[in-house]
Amino acid sequence: MGKVWFVGAGPGDPALITVKGRDLLARAGALLYAGSLVSPAHLEYVPPECECQDSKGMTLPAITEWLITKAHQHTTVVRLQTGDPSLYGALIEMVRPLDRAGIEVEVVPGVSSAMASAAAAVESLTLPDITQTVILTRVAGRTAMPEGEALEALARHHCTLCLFLSITLLHKVQSALLAAGWPPHAPVLVVHKASWLGDEKLIRGTLADIRDRCRAEHLSSQALIIVSPTLGARHWPTLATSKLYDATFTHRFRKGEGNSQEMPP
Ligand code: SAH
Repeated sequence: MGKVWFVGAGPGDPALITVKGRDLLARAGALLYAGSLVSPAHLEYVPPECECQDSKGMTLPAITEWLITKAHQHTTVVRLQTGDPSLYGALIEMVRPLDRAGIEVEVVPGVSSAMASAAAAVESLTLPDITQTVILTRVAGRTAMPEGEALEALARHHCTLCLFLSITLLHKVQSALLAAGWPPHAPVLVVHKASWLGDEKLIRGTLADIRDRCRAEHLSSQALIIVSPTLGARHWPTLATSKLYDATFTHRFRKGEGNSQEMPP
């Protein structure tokens, strides 16, 4: 009996899969990939005899049935998911039927589009004295938000918010953040197809105008919204610096020059 590997493909650029993920593709007997979001370039990593199937048009039971069937025929079966499999990837729904069928499962993490979007824009999601917290979330669409997780409530923390699956609901983002006390001029970053060569688009704006800017670019899918008090820090006139590189700060790998006793983060 084979094993099913849930592998994070990363955000799009085939070079952003992990080495472990690429090695698994290179020995896969069967591959089920999420064709709507995984770049076809990843298929070049599999051997010619590998059975490849796009899951785009499949239901969840069809997907799990396919994985179970292939695990009876091949040693290595790969389910290739966009970004990291633990985020909005229906991972557990797929794993449970495999558990019931007695099939071994392992997960290989991937670079999430949240990280790839920050990278594309040369932004830091945390900054000393500004925010040390990132919330990965979405606005309610067809999937309702659990109690206490309405965007307005989360936005009251005034930390970094990475919003998945929400690009067509920018009006909800705007109203929730304004209601939570963010000013209309708060910076917003939208990244479409982060890391996709030739397709990546960065749209910068404010809470007030980001919707019009995205509409002008005809964005309706595959975009991540970042709202954060850290945005644009590269060009700020002054910036608090991280204690980690402070000359007076003593930590495990370096003795500070002053008498700071603080422990490393
Ligand atoms: N597991 C994925 C998220 C899957 S949900 C991850 O870790 O990234 C799909 C949502 O992810 C999309 O609606 C969009 O918000 C975001 N997304 C996926 N790929 C993206 C990319 N290359 N650029 C920007 N956003 C992306």
